[in-house]
Amino acid sequence: MARLTLECVSKRYGKIEAVRGVSLDVADGEFVVLVGPSGCGKSTLLRMIAGLEEITTGELRIDDVRANEIGAADRGLAMVFQSYALYPHMTIYRNMAFGLENARMPRDEIARRVERAARMLRLEAYLDRRPGALSGGQRQRAAIGRAIVRDPKAFLFDEPLSNLDAELRVAMRKELSALHAELGRTMIYVTHDQVEAMTLASRIVVLQSGRIEQVGTPLELYNHPANVFVAGFIGSPRMNILETRIAARSESRFTLGLGETAVVIDGQPPSSNEAIQLGVRPEHVRVVAPGAGDFNASVEHCEHLGAHTLIHATVNGRPITALQEGQASARRGERVGLLLRREALHFFGADGEALTGWRGRTR
Ligand code: ADP
Repeated sequence: MARLTLECVSKRYGKIEAVRGVSLDVADGEFVVLVGPSGCGKSTLLRMIAGLEEITTGELRIDDVRANEIGAADRGLAMVFQSYALYPHMTIYRNMAFGLENARMPRDEIARRVERAARMLRLEAYLDRRPGALSGGQRQRAAIGRAIVRDPKAFLFDEPLSNLDAELRVAMRKELSALHAELGRTMIYVTHDQVEAMTLASRIVVLQSGRIEQVGTPLELYNHPANVFVAGFIGSPRMNILETRIAARSESRFTLGLGETAVVIDGQPPSSNEAIQLGVRPEHVRVVAPGAGDFNASVEHCEHLGAHTLIHATVNGRPITALQEGQASARRGERVGLLLRREALHFFGADGEALTGWRGRTR
């Protein structure tokens, strides 16, 4: 069991600051997902926790004990890599047993642990095979099994599903969730895939340029993004961000200028008198008859997803997407009205940070 604490942790490679002052408290048994675009520092952060990279400044504590100087092998953590890192010439059994044999664990204890892990991961029938004779998903399960037999305090996963095809990734996500529930161990998981983060995490840490942008449960981040970056990164299709200005305001109503159009919003205006970035998710934009919405837009194209239709349109030349239920049809160039769902609007200042103070009303 492990609680992990990062206090103002940074990593420098020469002039590059890969991780900048990250502070994070991971409770015992939590499933924390580090997510962000390529190069944001998530692998570096995970590798520092694992002990594979030195921490330049700041402190890592494992169960309240400083761990910066503790070697990777002595931290009691197990890492699972994207590349599986299995020994090709050894059977799956030996791949799992190898580390324990080196640690001179009694043979029967090793057998007990390997068999338990193999049962959990449905690998019993494959223990005598070599990695080359296994599918990608089975290989990744074997790599996870090798971590499980060590009975680590915490599991560290570095993009473990990236090499698998889409269908297998979905299946493995379910297995990892079930495994977390069964083992109850702390897990820290790195991915660039926000869907993976949303479906696996008890808490998500969104990183950009080596810094934490926001930490929260999947729905906290989805419903209350702290800034434009998180708003755009979490959720698919992406949130629409429209550049607007407050054109008029009173105590209970305000008008946002959007090029030549204006959106009137009932409610106390947000605490800003400057430019406002209006965020609205595609599922909160309704396509209505021209003139019946907040403004009219011109349809560019439709994507038919089966259960939903994604309608790409422009308003005053700026793109906006609407996600409609069912199989809607709209022709290129068609004029439509768009209605924004009031209680689902997000307001961000010119600096990209979420504005507070808006109290909207349902329409
Ligand atoms: P991510 O996992 O989010 O894609 P990384 O943690 O791998 O990002 O990298 C973060 C930044 O640090 C990147 O700019 C990367 O080029 C740099 N970086 C990572 N490892 C090294 C290294 N060994 N030497 C120099 N720069 C590195």
